[in-house]
Amino acid sequence: MNYDCIVLGAGIVGVSSALQLQARGRSVCLIDKLAPGEGTSFGNAGLIERSSVIPYGFPREFDKLIRYALNNQSDVRYDFSYLPKITPWLASYWWHSSPKRLAQAAVEMWPLLQRCVTEHDKWITLANAQDLVRAKGWIEVFRETLSFEHAKCDLDELGFYQLNYDVLNTEQLLVREPTLKPIVKGGIHWLDPKTVTDPSQLAKRYAQLFVKLGGTLLNGDAQRLKQKNNGWALQTDEQLLESDNVVVALGFNSPELVSRFGYKIPLAVKRGYHKHYRVEADHVLQQPICDHLAGFILAPMTNGIRLTTGAEFTDPNLPAKDIQINRAEAIARTLYPLGEAVESTPWLGRRPCINDMRPVIGKAPKAKGLWVNFGHAHHGLTLGPISGRLLADLMTEDKPFTDPAPYSIQRFT
Ligand SMILES: Cc1cc2nc3c(=O)[nH]c(=O)nc-3n(C[C@H](O)[C@H](O)[C@H](O)COP(=O)(O)OP(=O)(O)OC[C@H]3O[C@@H](n4cnc5c(N)ncnc54)[C@H](O)[C@@H]3O)c2cc1C
Repeated sequence: MNYDCIVLGAGIVGVSSALQLQARGRSVCLIDKLAPGEGTSFGNAGLIERSSVIPYGFPREFDKLIRYALNNQSDVRYDFSYLPKITPWLASYWWHSSPKRLAQAAVEMWPLLQRCVTEHDKWITLANAQDLVRAKGWIEVFRETLSFEHAKCDLDELGFYQLNYDVLNTEQLLVREPTLKPIVKGGIHWLDPKTVTDPSQLAKRYAQLFVKLGGTLLNGDAQRLKQKNNGWALQTDEQLLESDNVVVALGFNSPELVSRFGYKIPLAVKRGYHKHYRVEADHVLQQPICDHLAGFILAPMTNGIRLTTGAEFTDPNLPAKDIQINRAEAIARTLYPLGEAVESTPWLGRRPCINDMRPVIGKAPKAKGLWVNFGHAHHGLTLGPISGRLLADLMTEDKPFTDPAPYSIQRFT
């Protein structure tokens, strides 16, 4: 079968890329070894996160570094045995996290973040997925007065982005989220983001829309991709697919494939977990809350309250470990009356994180017809549709809505 384009990977990024190309009249075949939205896009916290405008850099404050060195926190944990392997990447991540470089990264990511909600809205309507989406934002909760005061001061630096938020004292916070325990010192309610009650289901609805509009969705192994006659060929179990263009959107598995064509991408995996808990009738959370210090999110979802963790550094291929989710759960129970756990083991996801905190989107010129869209780190759900739009603009030679240079894969050659 011949297509204008083969998209490899049906996570939120690949599905969105396929939809955007299809909307420009291209025939598209979307390939995954799993069903859509079953990779990292399955289990995130569901934030379409238009308020986290400063990328999550490597901390530089002395007190934070000491805290992480002790390796007993819930927001970041690591396996000592993995440190020699990850240290070169961490060093380059640290270098890109200087205040000046981080500010530059924020400015360069803003054109994508600024449009992330409106771009999702378009597809949410077309995919009939309004039932999965809430427009109440999320609340950052502080358990310590000092960190609340610091966070309030930091708000002044965000003026450029014109974000909408409410600063809440304890009383106001407990009115907005009455189920929280009164240990809280205050909160910031971020109003621009939307939140999703089942992120995997959203990717599946987008994929259903793609198929309904004539797109082809097939199971296959992207590693079987071959260059052939100036184009590309991929043998699935059922058929041979051919195309002039291929998009690599394989999340954390992408570097392995593009390395075959001469690209060495400094991408590391920040693992993260989730687990669901039952909700008592009188303890319903109105919107997701994030614990500022412990880095976990409690999000009301279809399967109960979803507790998600921060970052874990260890071999990406090792099975899930309980340590980080248990630490988060212990703190979460001091904040909110979590019910019984729904699952006995946590779900494990792998965030695809590039050292300079920007994804790669666009042409990969070392191989004719090779395109990339991966490395969305903490914000793949947020950025899927908008980075798909930029990619499709570039592939169809439409005028891109923003300068694509900051996301070029050429920065790694
Ligand atoms: C705990 C946690 C919380 C998060 N919270 C948020 C949040 O609130 N908001 C947000 O925006 N982001 C969040 N993220 C990040 C977000 O989930 C990711 O950035 C996003 O899912 C990445 O999407 P993707 O499509 O690039 O990758 P994936 O979803 O991993 O998709 C890649 C696809 O490629 C397929 N694949 C891989 N190899 C092959 C192969 N050889 N052949 C065929 N198919 C293959 C996989 O099966 C998979 O379906 C969170 C992540 C975690 C772990």
